Amino acid sequence: MSHILDTPIDYLKGVGPEKAAILKREVNIYTYRDLLDYYPYRYVDRSKFTQVKDLTDANVYVQLKGKFIRLEEQGQARTRRLVGWFQDETGIVEVVWFRAIKWIKDFIKLQQVYVIFEKPTIFNGKFNFAHPDIETIESYTESGKQGYQALYNTTEKMKARKLDSKAIGRWVIQLLQTIKSTDIPEILPNDILEKYRLVHRYTAMVNIHQPPTIHAQEDATRRLKFEELFLLQLQLVRLRLLRKRSVGRVFEEVGAYFNDFYHHHLPFRLTEAQKRVLKEIRKDTISGYQMNRLLQGDVGSGKTIVALLAMLMSVGNQQQAALMAPTEILAQQHFAGISELVQPLGLKVEILTGSVKGKKRKQLLTALEAGEIDILIGTHALIEPTVVFKSLGLVVIDEQHRFGVEQRAKLRDKGSIPPHILVMTATPIPRSLAMIFYGDLDYSVIDELPPGRKPITTVHRTHAQRLSVYGFLKEEIAKGRQIYVVYPLIEESEKIDLASLMEGYESILQSFPRPQYHISVVHGKMKPDIKETEMQQFVKGNTHIMVATTVIEVGVNVPNASVMLIENAERFGLSQLHQLRGRVGRGAEQSYCILMTGDKLSNDSKIRIKTMCETQDGFKISEVDLDLRGPGDIEGTQQSGDIQLKLSKLPDDKIILEEARKSATFILENDPDLKQVQHSALKYFIDHQAKLRGNWSQVL
Ligand code: ADP
Ligand code: MG
Repeated sequence: MSHILDTPIDYLKGVGPEKAAILKREVNIYTYRDLLDYYPYRYVDRSKFTQVKDLTDANVYVQLKGKFIRLEEQGQARTRRLVGWFQDETGIVEVVWFRAIKWIKDFIKLQQVYVIFEKPTIFNGKFNFAHPDIETIESYTESGKQGYQALYNTTEKMKARKLDSKAIGRWVIQLLQTIKSTDIPEILPNDILEKYRLVHRYTAMVNIHQPPTIHAQEDATRRLKFEELFLLQLQLVRLRLLRKRSVGRVFEEVGAYFNDFYHHHLPFRLTEAQKRVLKEIRKDTISGYQMNRLLQGDVGSGKTIVALLAMLMSVGNQQQAALMAPTEILAQQHFAGISELVQPLGLKVEILTGSVKGKKRKQLLTALEAGEIDILIGTHALIEPTVVFKSLGLVVIDEQHRFGVEQRAKLRDKGSIPPHILVMTATPIPRSLAMIFYGDLDYSVIDELPPGRKPITTVHRTHAQRLSVYGFLKEEIAKGRQIYVVYPLIEESEKIDLASLMEGYESILQSFPRPQYHISVVHGKMKPDIKETEMQQFVKGNTHIMVATTVIEVGVNVPNASVMLIENAERFGLSQLHQLRGRVGRGAEQSYCILMTGDKLSNDSKIRIKTMCETQDGFKISEVDLDLRGPGDIEGTQQSGDIQLKLSKLPDDKIILEEARKSATFILENDPDLKQVQHSALKYFIDHQAKLRGNWSQVL
């Protein structure tokens, strides 16, 4: 059954095929429903008049009431224009028209009261209104326009074809007059409407476009945001619950390897948080359902050992385990670390990355399929179709933010019963974002650092203080410590950045001359084997300083390194700075992070630097990051571009999100297939949307 709101936009009176094509291309408006879902970005209060003396250059629409005291045609041919002098009690502004000059001249009567509505621009130091909406005070009063008028975003291409905010507004109003309230039926159950005091869906739709009061607009907006977040959460929670109903691998016991390692080879006592997460994992892996768990924990909180213990559970149940890392360096490091840790257990650990080729690769794949490899560590190479496990029990994905959601899905497909999945994030992300981007996963947190960690002293220094900073580095080196010096590397300016890295390297070579000092340099443009050698020199303690681009950001572990000097720190995002700082403070020594910047900093940079100097709590830092940048730019979420929120914004709408998540969970836990009568409208709506857009369980 088709619905009036599914009518192609072409059919709306006044639109037609040409304009429809632009609407589709520019702003994805295909149907009547899309037009209604094209929400205003702002409102102007048309009951209020701005006075000329109060005009500002804020680039906003204003409404003036006054009289034209003079009209004059100026210029010739192409510069021909009509200029009107418009006066209220407080001053005079100029109004210009470049088109329809004759018509305007006939229309306007001097000394009568008019209302004009437009964004003023400043021209020759004077406020100037070009082609404003203009009407007599009588028609303004009759038209009932005195409420709030919605403003819609448009693109340059739309404006060029007169598809401006006003045109969209007119069509929306026209459409709202055409449809009936039953065309926008309520889909939320009554108890939720009542509990969160949400207005009816139809009312909300009318009032978001044509609000009689600002209050009505706020209620409408809140209701529609709730609906948007609720529908998204409903899908995510449904996915989560579906997995809980689907068959998973059962680890009957924690197994001999786990026990042996836990009781005899664990290099330290686990923190309470680590133990708690292990219990959560244990519960999942014996439940008979597939585990899909997100593990959040700050840099250095000890996620790796938790992952390893989980992998040992899998191996102890005669099932293989895989660990996937985002970079070759990190995979190598995990491989080295884990091989060493499990060495007493006699397990077969292997590494598979893009650089494992030819015969070696073939042998490895054969052994893997024969079940001769217990733990496979690697990069993206792990998810290539040629990689087949005999029986894969668990996949750990480290530093999730480098992996797209798609890759997650691919790994699940191995084997007849999907493996358990443990996803670990490199940097904590705010809970609100996790709910959106990993909303289909269960959630564990390590919120406690291993004991004995000394806080890292973080300071801000400017280039003028470089000499004293270098002096400090020399003192640290004299104490036997090692030092990281990091330069930003941002893709679009890669060449300049590489140049500045090499320049910095030269200057450090001069300030730290051989033979007293030894320096490694590592950057993304190096051949992997040279890079590896340079890294190893530093890891082994043969070099004092490692000059690097952010390739070391993820995972490198050199406990003897006590200083992280970040050059041009103002160019890094907060989560990156936090990640980098996490590279030091891993040993027993007091560690330092020095943020080097120029003198002039933007406000945002100042906040970032200040935040870094004040706190080491990754969750706090991620909240500040979200406040500063909004969710679009937060590390870990860019690749999830498929989830587009039309109306809701984070972090502002955190509370609505919580409520929506709670409601969705409550509904699905009681009525997983939405069979109850109070959910029938919701079910009907979702099924209808699914039919239009494909399977509704496929949002991710
Ligand atoms: P991340 O969570 O950033 O991946 P890692 O797993 O790399 O952190 O752990 C950071 C360091 O802390 C490692 O050197 C690890 O051996 C050590 N570590 C982990 N857990 C503990 C613990 N409970 N007690 C002491 N040291 C620990
Ligand atoms: Mg780690």
